[in-house]
Amino acid sequence: MADVRFEDVESTVEAEVALVVSEGFPDLINAKIKVLYDTKKRVTGDKIVLGRMMKSNDLLRHMTYEESKSDEGFDYFLFLDKMAYRNIDPADRVRLVRHELQHCDVDFETEKNPYGLRTHEIEDFYEEVAKNATEPEWRDRVALVAESLYDEEAEREKDSKKAKRNSPAEFAE
Ligand SMILES: [Zn+2]
Repeated sequence: MADVRFEDVESTVEAEVALVVSEGFPDLINAKIKVLYDTKKRVTGDKIVLGRMMKSNDLLRHMTYEESKSDEGFDYFLFLDKMAYRNIDPADRVRLVRHELQHCDVDFETEKNPYGLRTHEIEDFYEEVAKNATEPEWRDRVALVAESLYDEEAEREKDSKKAKRNSPAEFAE
């Protein structure tokens, strides 16, 4: 099988996300959110992408209706950078998930599907700036951790390739 880029998160992570929803996002209580790890480093501009929120579409709804246990399938897909998420402390996990959930733009007034997306007012959402007042630099700090972990991984891969190259050819007779 080819490299699989996305992985299901552990059920503990699903529970973490559900807790953040229940504590601060009443509009999302009934939303079906599929949480996935992205195992590939993504960069936009010069910044590593720690999380991404994607809204659903007709095809994704169709493909996921069984798993979501709803005729509608999943409403959102939340991608978490696996390297970052698994190596940061719980407070930063909450910050990251909260930030991504802020991207959900819920409008129950609309005739259509209520689950849309919105972008930032600034680098962050106004609501989050207040909540992160004690640590306004949290994102840069977490990004730095993720970057260095990816660098370490790249080094390890380089070394193991080198080791493979140096090993003698194997023959079976
Ligand atoms: Zn964002």
